[in-house]
Amino acid sequence: MHPIAGIVVVEPMKEADLDRFRRQLDRLASELRELEETSKPSVQPVSLDQASVGRLSRMDAMQAQQMAVETARRRREDLAKVAGALRRIDNGEYGICFACGEPIDIRRLAIAPTSTRCVSCADD
Ligand SMILES: [Zn+2]
Repeated sequence: MHPIAGIVVVEPMKEADLDRFRRQLDRLASELRELEETSKPSVQPVSLDQASVGRLSRMDAMQAQQMAVETARRRREDLAKVAGALRRIDNGEYGICFACGEPIDIRRLAIAPTSTRCVSCADD
């Protein structure tokens, strides 16, 4: 045994842990896709016909519309993050910090499975 100072051995994540994260991410992806499906009608253009707007004023309808667009945009971003995490699992890069190359704490991943940075490199 000749331990070399300063060299950190990056332990690959256990297969069982990877499987667990893969299932968690798969579930997250299908939830997001489902939400995308069910919320489609609200992303339709705002009708200018007062009658069909009902009790909502046009202004309210347009604000609701903007929120729906924003929500949909965030959902697409989340979906892209989940897809990226699944890709990293396949590539064997999952759980490694983008910034420093150290393993990301598994407890952090359990809360935020799409994390690409460890706690010390996180900017969020
Ligand atoms: Zn890091």
